[in-house]
Amino acid sequence: MPVLSADVLEKYEEAGRIASKVRTKIEDTVREGMRIIDICEMVEENIRNLGGEPAFPCNISVNEIAAHYTSPPGDERIIPDESIVKIDIGVHIDGYIVDTATTICFNPEYDEMVQTSRIALETAIRTIRPGISTSDLGSKIQRAIENMGFKPISNLTGHQIGRYMIHAGKSLPNVSHISFRKIHEGEVYAIEPFVTTPNARGRVIEGEEAHIFRFLKRKKLKLKESKRLLNFIERKFRTLPFAKRWLIKDNIFNEFAFTHLLESKCLMAYPVFIEESRQWVAQFEHTVYIDKNGAVVLT
Ligand code: MN
Ligand code: MN
Repeated sequence: MPVLSADVLEKYEEAGRIASKVRTKIEDTVREGMRIIDICEMVEENIRNLGGEPAFPCNISVNEIAAHYTSPPGDERIIPDESIVKIDIGVHIDGYIVDTATTICFNPEYDEMVQTSRIALETAIRTIRPGISTSDLGSKIQRAIENMGFKPISNLTGHQIGRYMIHAGKSLPNVSHISFRKIHEGEVYAIEPFVTTPNARGRVIEGEEAHIFRFLKRKKLKLKESKRLLNFIERKFRTLPFAKRWLIKDNIFNEFAFTHLLESKCLMAYPVFIEESRQWVAQFEHTVYIDKNGAVVLT
């Protein structure tokens, strides 16, 4: 695998600076009782104002929801009192994506669990380097979490990142597993340990709701409205995830056409992920570039 060109690396670094700025700002802004939709829109707007594009809708996943919640149009949900809130932010410049997340804790009972997730991420960043296998990395992450008395989520992973592809190539499980796949210089990864309570099941299942979507394939469509909507989505988001909110803002949303595109499998939906035993989940995430010495944190 060739190392990245200076030009490409510069785009990753710029996307990383934007993501980091937006994350820091939102950490200082989010309060109990705020409307989730306002936070989503604030994050996405800040990304655009700083010269980036959202690589996916801002995810705001509360308590036992581990990932993939974004506000549907007109969402009235608020940040509950004494909750823990994961905010997951994606930025791309010209298709070069960074992905970063933080957990905001309004419940002192969960401080230590949240801290564990942060420490597990730091451990992973110190450990990852060219030549290490994904299984060695997973074991280190698992041990860091279990040493603090908590449990990793076994079926959510970090991931390699490709141009316009958030999950490309290799996965980075947060537990030990059998794999001989190795990390190479020049690759870009999102590392994201998800941590839950010691007595939890330690797995996520898909929930009923889905508010994040992406283009899957084109197809011959008879309905003019569906054709028009699919063309718009493919041109605007390519293979990156998007929200209905964005289509409404662009004045192109049509419920009937959208449902038709989902049924025709031209689009796919990402259901929310919920911890199976309904225990709460914390997550921190950074995107790193692998140089010859190890990880360079982009976010
Ligand atoms: Mn993420
Ligand atoms: Mn990720």
